[in-house]
Amino acid sequence: MTILQMPVRQLGLMVNSFARASTCGTRLFELLDAELDIKDAPGARDLVVTEGVLRFDNVGFRYAGAGDRPTLSGISFEARSGETIGIVGPPGSGKSTIAHLIPRFYDVTSGSITIDGQDISKVTLQSLRKAVGVVQQDAFLFTTSIENNIAYGNPWARETRIGQAAEFAQLHNYIIGLPAGYTTVVGERGASLSGGQRQRLTIARSLMLRPSVLVFDDSTAAIDAGTEQRIRAAMKRFAKDRVTLIISHRLSSLMHADQILFVENGRIVERGTHEQLLALGGRYRALYDLQLRPEDDRPTALGAA
Ligand code: ATP
Repeated sequence: MTILQMPVRQLGLMVNSFARASTCGTRLFELLDAELDIKDAPGARDLVVTEGVLRFDNVGFRYAGAGDRPTLSGISFEARSGETIGIVGPPGSGKSTIAHLIPRFYDVTSGSITIDGQDISKVTLQSLRKAVGVVQQDAFLFTTSIENNIAYGNPWARETRIGQAAEFAQLHNYIIGLPAGYTTVVGERGASLSGGQRQRLTIARSLMLRPSVLVFDDSTAAIDAGTEQRIRAAMKRFAKDRVTLIISHRLSSLMHADQILFVENGRIVERGTHEQLLALGGRYRALYDLQLRPEDDRPTALGAA
């Protein structure tokens, strides 16, 4: 049986287990091990998305075997459909872990996560993962055509939708310039595509699933700033009907978010819009000064602005 002949349900499991969980080797297997513990609760019902409100309520989390120190503590925020949340913070502060809790790659240790008031630990995994798309930095690609790679969450997808998703992800023009266009086979783990093109392909794949919550986990790191800006502009229309979470080290990727959370040591230490956080003059401001503030606008050694 080839991947394209698999029943949707089985394919869905592969999406969940491999493509979405894929980072590089060790991390992938860690995620798969963790996933074995994640099951439907007895009597679980399908998630019904109506308003599209995502809510973290005092969420705490600790990785199994990672000692006493919690990875996340007291994480609370709410996002409504159409809103973009940016998550920023130092390496290892817990940003990706926040993202991994939404599709239940792991279960929260305390507190709760709800979508439209339904606790995600009490709904069926299949319905949850249809509603939550995660685009990761080094996503898994199958050795098959570009169009199959974009569409495999939905093997009966129409060509127009595949092309539209590729256009949103700023990949369409590149694909139609290839001799075999959308039927070009990409190599093992997408070896024939550049890092940025692979990322854009996985962005297109996530768009095909039309999730209610879409998470970009540092997924534009290998994309140059100009292309990223074009993706962001194209995505504006797409973002209207869903919650978008952007996790990035690059402030330019998330400074336009409706709400920005600055995470440090597993806690949200600052929150607000870009302007509010700049005015606060704290951790976010320091990162902005480091990354984006024009050279001639920085304080000199004598303290002049
Ligand atoms: P980065 O910016 O480097 O991607 P991050 O802010 O996304 O980091 P996480 O990947 O969420 O941080 O990791 C938070 C903490 O949890 C880190 O100390 C990390 O080492 C630890 N961690 C991550 N994954 C696991 C795991 N599977 N098992 C145990 N500890 C883990």
